[in-house]
Amino acid sequence: MPSIDADPPQRYRGRFAPSPTGPLHFGSLVAAVGSHADARAHGGEWLVRMEDLDAPRTVPGAAAAILDGLAALGMNSDAPVLFQSSRGDAYRAALDRLTSAGLTYPCACSRREIADSALRFGAPVDGPRELVYPGTCRRGLPAGRSGRAIRCRVDDAPIAFEDAVQGTVRQRLAREVGDFVLLRADGIFAYQLAVVVDDAEQGITDVVRGADLLDSTPRQIRLQRALGLPTPRYCHLPVATDARGEKLSKQTRAAPVDLGRPADALRRALAFLGHPPPAGLDEVAALWAWAVPQWDRARIPRARAIPVA
Ligand code: GLU
Repeated sequence: MPSIDADPPQRYRGRFAPSPTGPLHFGSLVAAVGSHADARAHGGEWLVRMEDLDAPRTVPGAAAAILDGLAALGMNSDAPVLFQSSRGDAYRAALDRLTSAGLTYPCACSRREIADSALRFGAPVDGPRELVYPGTCRRGLPAGRSGRAIRCRVDDAPIAFEDAVQGTVRQRLAREVGDFVLLRADGIFAYQLAVVVDDAEQGITDVVRGADLLDSTPRQIRLQRALGLPTPRYCHLPVATDARGEKLSKQTRAAPVDLGRPADALRRALAFLGHPPPAGLDEVAALWAWAVPQWDRARIPRARAIPVA
């Protein structure tokens, strides 16, 4: 079995995978800049994927605005942008394979029922607390109930990986997450399934993204192993938080990046990632020409979250 630390034989291929739920803000800018810098510094390709699966949360026009913003910031996808909304057949096929392997089951529980019986696990760095699924439907649906969601069975064997910034991460899914959702009660494929299918489809070798997704990675590795897909290398960047420690996100109404001053935004993101550009570089192209040869993962702060003023 290939070790996670071994260099994948393919050429480096990275990605930025925004959810088009609003304009680019500083938090998503950091993930874009970090993934782009890392790809370019490795002589690799950089792809953009629009994670627009969650139709109720998708804002019309946001995908185009994000792509325009990335272009203004000197970041252009090396392949046509992949829209998750067009990928339902691939997710269905993956779900069917997991089901054929006996790894899924229908679940009737509502959020309220899970909250009533679940233990809460240590809050991740941000975002809503996730609940450990107590396994209510694992051995079959309760009498008279019908399945709302489909879950993936997990076991208690630790899943570990070496993150380039955050170090060794180890999680026991059974006790820290529980059987997790693959198909949501509203019929939408879950992020965890879609991201695994698409990272493989796009041949991603290196996932560089915010550390708010660090706790999701063992679920993704679980699915990669179950589907016979390669595990990319992971590099989880610190996430920008507000003074109260909340991740800057569309939900916390983070201010959009000022695309009238793209060089300022790029400069701030590079500084946040441990690469403060020297004075006098005032153009996007000049900043990238400086940043790419400078880029060094060892300079990225080893934190899950950093407050920004
Ligand atoms: N779509 C996710 C987000 O905007 C990122 C997913 C990923 O990079 O794996 O937070």
